Order: sequence, then C-alpha cells, then structure tokens
Amino acid sequence: MTVLSDTATEHHPLVDVARSLADKTLFPAAVEVDRSGKIPTEQLQALQDAGLYGIFSTEAVGGSNLSNEDRNLVIEALAGGCLTTAFIWQQHAGPASATALCEGEAHRYAAGLASGELRGGVAFAHLLRQGTPVLRAEPCSDGWQISGTAPYITGWGDVDIVLIAARWQDSIIWGIVPGIESATMSASMLELAAVNSSSTAVITFDQHLISSDDVTSVVSFDSWLEGYRMGLRANGSLALGVTGRCLSLLGPSELDAEYVTARQRLDTASVDDLPAARANASDLCMRAATMLVAASGGGAIAASHHAQLLARQAMFLLVQSQTSEIRHHQLTRSM
Ligand SMILES: Cc1cc2nc3c(=O)[nH]c(=O)nc-3n(C[C@H](O)[C@H](O)[C@H](O)COP(=O)(O)OP(=O)(O)OC[C@H]3O[C@@H](n4cnc5c(N)ncnc54)[C@H](O)[C@@H]3O)c2cc1C
Repeated sequence: MTVLSDTATEHHPLVDVARSLADKTLFPAAVEVDRSGKIPTEQLQALQDAGLYGIFSTEAVGGSNLSNEDRNLVIEALAGGCLTTAFIWQQHAGPASATALCEGEAHRYAAGLASGELRGGVAFAHLLRQGTPVLRAEPCSDGWQISGTAPYITGWGDVDIVLIAARWQDSIIWGIVPGIESATMSASMLELAAVNSSSTAVITFDQHLISSDDVTSVVSFDSWLEGYRMGLRANGSLALGVTGRCLSLLGPSELDAEYVTARQRLDTASVDDLPAARANASDLCMRAATMLVAASGGGAIAASHHAQLLARQAMFLLVQSQTSEIRHHQLTRSM
C-alpha cells in the first residue's frame, strides 16, 4: 500500500513487518474473513509470530516497548490490511500494558501477554456512558464482586483473558476475568453490520468475583478520564489505515493531501484539540470510502468487492471509541 504521509525518517523494524503482513497476508484475505464471521486463528498466529503482540508491553516483561509514534504506524498498517483483525489484536493493548505496569500479583500475566502466548481483550468503553454505570463493583472479603453488563468485548472466543473496568463509587476497579463463560459470567454474541468477524460479545456479570490477585489497579474516575483523553490519538490510526487503503485503491485523488493533513493533525494535536482531529480522521475515512464506492461503480456492491467492505468499516469507525467531545464535533461538523 502506498504510504502517502509517512513523514518519519526512521521507524522500528516492526513497522515494516506490519506493513508487509498487511499487504501480503491480511488484505488479500480481508473480504473472505469479513464474510466468514470469524477471524482464522492462523491470522492472529501470524501477528504473534511476527512479534506484534509484544508492542504494548515493556521490555522488562519481554515486550518491544515501541514508541507511541511507531505503535500508531503499526496500528495504521494493520488496519489498512484487515480492520477486523487489527481491531481484535488492538484490544490486547489494555491487559498487556496494565499487567506489565501492575506491581501486584496480576503482574504474573504480563510475560505471557508480551509474547502473545496469552491473548487479551478489554472492556472499558462503557465507563463513558451517561447515567448509572452499567458495570459495577462492590468490595468483598476476597476482592471485588462485579455485576452488570459489559456491552462490548471484542475477540470473545479468541482471547484467554479480559481486562474489565467496573465502577465503585468515584473509583474504577480494573481486573482480569477469564475469557470463558461461567456461572457468574455469560456471553451473548452480537450480530454486526461491520467487523462482524470481530467476535464481539455482550457479557453479563452476576456477582462475579475478581480476587485481589487479579486486580491490576483501583483509580479515581476523574484521573482515568484525563489519561483517556490524552490517549485518544491511537484509535485515530484505525481511520487512517482504512483511509490509506481506500486511497491506494483509488489512485491519485484530491483526498491525498487531506490524508497527510489528517495524520499531521492527530500527531500534533493538544489534548483539547484531539477530539476534533479524531472526528476529522473518521470523516475523511467515510469520504475516502464513499469515493472508492463511487469510482468502482455497481461492482462495488458485490459482496466480494473491497469497496463495500471498506465503506462498512468506515461507518464503524464513526462510532468506535467515540467520546462526547468527538461526537459533538461530528454532529456540529466542527472539525
Ligand atoms: C463492534 C464494536 C466492538 C467494540 N469492542 C469494544 C471492546 O472490545 N472493548 C471496549 O471497551 N469497547 C468496545 N466497543 C465500544 C466502542 O469503543 C465505543 O465506545 C462505542 O462504540 C461507543 O458507543 P457506546 O454505545 O458505547 O456509547 P454511546 O452511548 O453511543 O455513546 C458514545 C459517546 O457519546 C457520549 N454520549 C452519548 N449520548 C450523549 C448525549 N446525549 N450527549 C452527549 N454525549 C453523549 C457517550 O458518553 C460516549 O462518550 C466496541 C464497539 C463496537 C460497536
């Protein structure tokens, strides 16, 4: 894929590994993978074999500890290959970094997550929902009891563990739960119009015990939210990846310059400017996908055509990791 806005002079070698994997392995299979309803295990294994599960972990636990810039380029490359595969893999970042940084017993998961031998998912976006928390924690003698619903857990069936976030008063309890159902944890798979092969489930918890050994941290909601606002940059790379793929299929177009600008905006935005830069990236992604559909004619609507797949992926990226602020910019078109 032509990388139109690759301004950095030097990258970690894993960036090129990800680009090659995206072009040679992920993209050629993307339509079939989308239609099959399930990511082939070999595809996740290919990411593991390439060392890409380790990019979110510190070197101390066996990870490659990539810089944020290189990490974003890897996310972008993989998203341009197969967004669904990239999305499942990206969830690994949560448990990999949380357990690597944790000083308690939950640190025992970190080495397995860094190698990819252990695969992780995460459920935290519900923390941003308005109103009564959907997933709640109560202290008990052995740790915390979790009740309520985690509305989205991607990679269900592909992951061994899930890092979940539950509210208790003004705090968030972060802890590890197994990636399998039990008497206190039940899963229901979602049927989706895009990224359906992401194996995304709703998980319902009924007084599920997270023992103290599996708690990675307890933090105040306000301090987490501040950190989350700062971390909004990374998900913008999913939109850049899909945009880049659309543009490379289109050939030279007037959107090429906007693509360069969209990445620069994401890279240089202050925390307060990031929501508008994210809204801009997902809007550009929609327009690039729309242009590709238009340029492809009626054939674009065939289930076997990349254009319809990329357009549905762009639609998903309008809401993926959406925050109130991003949504505001999208709805008022102030980007
Ligand atoms: C297929 C899929 C897979 C996903 N996988 C995961 C996963 O594995 N892990 C995970 O943690 N998350 C996951 N998510 C969640 C995702 O990252 C987003 O958080 C989600 O798509 C946003 O929608 P929502 O339904 O959670 O929130 P919504 O209720 O739609 O709200 C989105 C944002 O807008 C704000 N908002 C809503 N209504 C208003 C209003 N009236 N005024 C102002 N602001 C408002 C909310 O506070 C929130 O910040 C997934 C989502 C999808 C669709």
